[in-house]
Amino acid sequence: MATSNWARALAALALLAAAPATAREREGQVALTFDDLPALTIESNQGYIDDLNRDLLRKLRENHVPAIGFVNESKAEGAEHDRQVDNLKRWLDAGMLLGNHTFSHSSPNSLGAAAYAADIERGERITRPLMKAHGKKLRWFRHPYLEAGSPLAVRDWINRWLRDHGYRVAPVTIDAEDWEFAEPYDDAIAKHDVARQARIRQTYLAYTAMRIKWSQESAKALFGRDIAHVMLLHCTRLNADTLDALLKLLRAARLRPVTIDQAMRDRAYRTRDTYAEKDGVTWLERWAATLGKTLPSEGDEDPPAEIQAEYDRVDNDRVSPQNK
Ligand SMILES: [Zn+2]
Repeated sequence: MATSNWARALAALALLAAAPATAREREGQVALTFDDLPALTIESNQGYIDDLNRDLLRKLRENHVPAIGFVNESKAEGAEHDRQVDNLKRWLDAGMLLGNHTFSHSSPNSLGAAAYAADIERGERITRPLMKAHGKKLRWFRHPYLEAGSPLAVRDWINRWLRDHGYRVAPVTIDAEDWEFAEPYDDAIAKHDVARQARIRQTYLAYTAMRIKWSQESAKALFGRDIAHVMLLHCTRLNADTLDALLKLLRAARLRPVTIDQAMRDRAYRTRDTYAEKDGVTWLERWAATLGKTLPSEGDEDPPAEIQAEYDRVDNDRVSPQNK
């Protein structure tokens, strides 16, 4: 009897001791990735670009959140070269990583495999030495538009080229189309329309919350569990202004920000992927296509029609060399 009581007490103690670990296990992970560095914006004012980088990085640091920024070196060409390179240095000085996002934000669908590879190689001339100066090695690559090559032979050729050049492809499992909200937001700032800015921020966050949930449900449909996610964001004024709220959404979804290297240790990223359509889609959709599985339809929605309309209007009104 006494032994059994002890056994029970010990078991209870063991449970208590294990409780924090169990809670930690239940907490998921997410790697934050920001594309189109030094910035995605319709604003050509360099001060605006410098400020959004400073603010975004300050908030990431204040919240102890690691991140990686994917660079288009074409954006550092021209009169503001030095200040654009300073923005890239700012990311490394803040302890973040940089990755390659091609020189000119190109797609293998339009360039073909060989020219695409040349554009990738051209996209590391500034970033590789900067990383080296910070004791880091350029390793991560993100496909613009998530277009990875089509048909399969082309995709495989590009993957091999990337591997041979020391790159690892950064996948995406959470995509809230933030670029579509970001340009109308820049426009609202340019027009000093504070009410419109607040409305766009609110719509963006609500849409993002829905997309995070969809990604978690999709992971469960594919793997029977949630996975360590990789979230696609862009280096924008919108994300600089909403970062605290975005982090709150991730906390509410029990996703803890980790480095991309940590997230990629999840065995889900070893899943076979034979997707080779022209459409750029997330890795959840690539795996679903490969495994012949269906992802949930609830939450699989485009951004609200009003945002799409605003984006089209702004995009037609203003053609900026920054992102075109
Ligand atoms: Zn991009």
